[in-house]
Amino acid sequence: MNRIRLLPEQVANQIAAGEVIERPASVVKELVENSLDAQATRVLVEVQAGGRSLVRVVDDGLGMSRDDALLCLERHATSKIRRAEDLAAIATMGFRGEALPSIASVSRFTLTTRERAGDSPEGTQVIISGGKIAEVKAAGCAPGTTIEVRQLFFNLPARRKFLRTEETESAHIQHYLMLAALAYPEVAVTFQRDGRLIWQLPAVKAGSDAASRLSALRERLRALYGGEQKLLTVDYSAEIQSSAEAEDAAGDPASSHFRVWGFIGSPGVSRSTREDQHLFVNRRPVENRGLNFALLEGYHTALMKGRYPVCCLFLEIDPAAVDVNIHPAKREVKFHREAEVRRLVAQAVRQTLLEFHAGKPEPARPAPLVSSVSTAQAPPAQPSARPVEQSALPNFPAALKPIPAPNPSAGQSPLRLGFSPAPPAAAPITEPGARSADQPPPPPAPPSAEPIPLLNVPLRLVGVVGRLYVVLESDRGLVLLDQHAAHERILFEQMLNRLEQKDQAPSQRLLLPETVELAARDASFLREQLPMLTRLGVGLSEFGERTFLLDALPPFVRVSDARRFVLELVDELKAAGRELNSLRLGEHTVAKTVCRHAVKANDPLAGRELENLIDDLRHCAMPYTCPHGRPTLIEMNFRELEKKFGRTQ
Ligand code: ADP
Ligand code: MG
Repeated sequence: MNRIRLLPEQVANQIAAGEVIERPASVVKELVENSLDAQATRVLVEVQAGGRSLVRVVDDGLGMSRDDALLCLERHATSKIRRAEDLAAIATMGFRGEALPSIASVSRFTLTTRERAGDSPEGTQVIISGGKIAEVKAAGCAPGTTIEVRQLFFNLPARRKFLRTEETESAHIQHYLMLAALAYPEVAVTFQRDGRLIWQLPAVKAGSDAASRLSALRERLRALYGGEQKLLTVDYSAEIQSSAEAEDAAGDPASSHFRVWGFIGSPGVSRSTREDQHLFVNRRPVENRGLNFALLEGYHTALMKGRYPVCCLFLEIDPAAVDVNIHPAKREVKFHREAEVRRLVAQAVRQTLLEFHAGKPEPARPAPLVSSVSTAQAPPAQPSARPVEQSALPNFPAALKPIPAPNPSAGQSPLRLGFSPAPPAAAPITEPGARSADQPPPPPAPPSAEPIPLLNVPLRLVGVVGRLYVVLESDRGLVLLDQHAAHERILFEQMLNRLEQKDQAPSQRLLLPETVELAARDASFLREQLPMLTRLGVGLSEFGERTFLLDALPPFVRVSDARRFVLELVDELKAAGRELNSLRLGEHTVAKTVCRHAVKANDPLAGRELENLIDDLRHCAMPYTCPHGRPTLIEMNFRELEKKFGRTQ
């Protein structure tokens, strides 16, 4: 008996919808992608009840003829590819011809469209309910396309039940729209939610050259996030081999252009999630594990463990070198030369961070540290008081934070300064040493995406609080330096430099060598690392099957618990080996761990020593974070100070 039957079209569409249309945000994504593919210059998105009751997308794109308006609702009907080979080099957002029939099969759907190039003043309207065409008629409308999706999943109660709150669904929609807006600054984007205007982003004129695309992106970022970002410009190009098989006429492997451009947070800027990490491949927002690792690898010691970069990076790569057809919602991509892409992205990030301190845009002379004697004996704060919390400083690690939707009740984030308001006696602290009291602080610098590195402006010493935090001032405002973090960074780089010059870091024999016993697996792992450890000044040798003898350490290191120290090394190295793929990183990892055990200067440092410390820091390649990615310096500019004291809004 034959039991197999072809499913009716409508059922097939609903099955496809199950994969492609997870939630209202997927509808918005598919519709906006279509508008962008149709070369719209304006896109209006309107949602109600988190998109459950209405998603409307209006564009002024190419529009469709009456025939196309009917055909686009058929499964696998697309204007974007013709042959199987086209799949290998997709240049549009869509290509499967699946979205419209899928959406129409699970909603009440109205398509109204008129060709931009046509000469008829009339358009077409198609009304569909749960996948069945209810009406097709002529309609008076402007050129372009409007699609209305009402009552999503009305015929799939199970799906509808799984939708989250309106807030959550709206947040997903807004997140996608933000990505689309970043990828297409030349398109004006308007977003309305429940009748309220959330965004009205004007079109940014953009030429096709690198500089003008960067500046267009910067303007779009500013429109979305406001001016307070400390971002560094990335612009990196390389040649990349297209694919393993591709060869040019001469039989050499064909290579193509690869470019990474956009913005990344300056050292010390990070988030606890990947929320502000935006990656695009040929303008498509993507998720890709390899790229995530590449970013972490690029930041390396400029990022704390468990923190994530803030970035908006665009990869441009030959469409033939990347597969976009591997995920139902087209969120993921696969590079043919994954390792190569990863290496180049890490390199782009690393180079940008290094150039930042080198002061690439404006190579300022290292500014002298001016001691300000009158303010040096300011009353010390309670040693226990935690100083300024990083998150309370909107301008230092200015994590990208979307401007909240206009909401009168949304106030400023609570003030979380650890130090109490200075008593009148402490007045000198607030009086900048090099400026007289009646002179107002200089006006805040206009928000710029490329801040002058802090260590390239003159700093004046004000004092030390909590025997640890050095208070400095610059012409821009207040600066705090973490003595230990700075010291660690300096040792770390000195250690690596010496290693580079002499191939062997200095080492000092321990008076009392210690033995450490490890689990069998750790022991065999460690055995392979011994030559490198020796080079780094950590004298470990085999002393039995699973036992090692620790008999030397770099001179500035003391360890009280040898076993813990060795285990820490093993753990860090293992973790590095898993996540990162460069040989040198092993050495960096060891140096990092070793520096954590550096003897800390316990005495409060005085003027001259502090000057040396800051000078040494200035000579570091990555001075703004300790080797573990914690900030060495925190800045609060006058504008922020004024805000905190309620002088400005
Ligand atoms: P795909 O985008 O993969 O081609 P869709 O189902 O999303 O598949 O759309 C089918 C076709 O309908 C598209 O190829 C395009 O020709 C047409 N289309 C869809 N939306 C629009 C629009 N907003 N403006 C013009 N044409 C559109
Ligand atoms: Mg599409």
